[in-house]
Amino acid sequence: MNKRIVIGNWKMNPSSEKDAVTLARRVDEGVGALKRAAVLIAPPHVFLRRVVDEVGHVGVGTQDAFWEPSGPYTGEVSYQQAKSAGAEFVIVGHSERRIYLGESGEMIAKKLKAVLSHGMKGVLCIGERERVDREVASVVGDQLLSALEGAAKNDIGRLIVAYEPVWATSTVAGSGPDTPQSAAKTALYIKKILVSRFGTAAGSAVPVVYGGSVNVKNAESFMREGMMAGVLVGGASIDAKAFVEIAIRVADF
Ligand code: PEP
Repeated sequence: MNKRIVIGNWKMNPSSEKDAVTLARRVDEGVGALKRAAVLIAPPHVFLRRVVDEVGHVGVGTQDAFWEPSGPYTGEVSYQQAKSAGAEFVIVGHSERRIYLGESGEMIAKKLKAVLSHGMKGVLCIGERERVDREVASVVGDQLLSALEGAAKNDIGRLIVAYEPVWATSTVAGSGPDTPQSAAKTALYIKKILVSRFGTAAGSAVPVVYGGSVNVKNAESFMREGMMAGVLVGGASIDAKAFVEIAIRVADF
């Protein structure tokens, strides 16, 4: 049986290396015994090496990576540098980078191609900005197809798609999670696109996880009624106790 996937996106938190190490250690200890879930955490680049050295059970990755291995790209961190610091996966196309940093579909496609073709896992985030039913399919479909532009079928075994409706992210004022039922419909749509792009075997094997205000109370419902392969957790992932509890519930489902 495939393991359930629980990803913690720490975003620009915590504010010190000491706190990052403490958080990583608590999460690692808390999920150590889980056999049925792969738990992944994405600290800020600056804490990556230290966190990698600290953990033994969780996988560590980054929240973004530039598509060239090295070169004149001031302020960027490449997939190659992240890999050499111990990252096993890269989150690509997160809505906060699309919105605040102006990442385009073209940039996201280059990043995903670089990550997947160099042996790393890619967690591709897609999701509509507004809660308008008729827009979901077209926005999500366009984002997915555009991100997959350069992705090779042979590399698709390392892809995870995270459906994250932007309006459901906990940092958006007045937000709340999607319903598991509507997230399930979108996940099915995503699977259909993956199958038409890569064929039934490869496309249907790509895990689709849900992100957007996941917490201890609702995590299991996204597995059960949402038919997700796992969850991507933002805000609750920097609370070790809550994140561990989410991982336990997802693994136990
Ligand atoms: C996210 O932004 O990736 C996310 C899932 O955030 P939250 O869980 O805080 O809604």
